[in-house]
Amino acid sequence: MKIAKVSSRCECQARLGAELDEDRKVLRGWSRDIRNRTLVSPCTLAGTEGERFHLVWLCAVCGRNTLRSFDAGALVFQDVPEASGPHQSA
Ligand SMILES: [Zn+2]
Repeated sequence: MKIAKVSSRCECQARLGAELDEDRKVLRGWSRDIRNRTLVSPCTLAGTEGERFHLVWLCAVCGRNTLRSFDAGALVFQDVPEASGPHQSA
């Protein structure tokens, strides 16, 4: 499968990150605090407008819902090995 990583910064200066698949489905989201600890932060797609799409993180560092916009054309996809297990997607 191919995934792209996006990153941004929360108001609290935590670094926000997420991995998306080619359908712009969020696979996982995280935030990284100033001590470089990585915390799981739910991230969801909040809408698309053509090539633009919006992601909302629930920042685990400060608890804010942080909306950031990205340009689909700027996503860089990388091939990653399919996770082993019963979940084979067509
Ligand atoms: Zn934050």
